[in-house]
Amino acid sequence: MAIFHWLVIQGGVPVKEVLSYRRCLRPGSDDKCGWCGIHVESIDHLFLHCSWSHHIWSALFNWWNVSWIIPSSMLEFSSDWINGMGIKAANFWSLIGPVTIWAIWLARNELVFNGVYSCWAATVSRIKLKVFNGSLTRKSVRVINFICGAFNLGV
Ligand SMILES: [Zn+2]
Repeated sequence: MAIFHWLVIQGGVPVKEVLSYRRCLRPGSDDKCGWCGIHVESIDHLFLHCSWSHHIWSALFNWWNVSWIIPSSMLEFSSDWINGMGIKAANFWSLIGPVTIWAIWLARNELVFNGVYSCWAATVSRIKLKVFNGSLTRKSVRVINFICGAFNLGV
């Protein structure tokens, strides 16, 4: 997921705009976003600006009680969150950001290759589950142990 995140920032993910630029799509092929059908499927549109993706980011930021403004690009988005938004946002980005980007890409591929439309709310649930499962192997075990210890609960 970290490598994929890096590819997104570098503009190396084969969205329709990139494929068209590389002449991998036939001239006149549909280069529109599969979710909205209005805008060209660029990296920034797919992962940030499409209403489908925007719902996901908004739900996740609300989950962490973090306010945000839609950035202009994935590069700006990543650098802002990594460098200057405080420890809460840094934790958000290190845990949830790469998982979310990967989940958006998988959902996009399901739509493009299999015609399966994923509900954004279901995708948010999958992201939360993945983050929870991943974080259990790191910090959350200590938090759960602390909570259980504070309330004298056995684990
Ligand atoms: Zn769209």
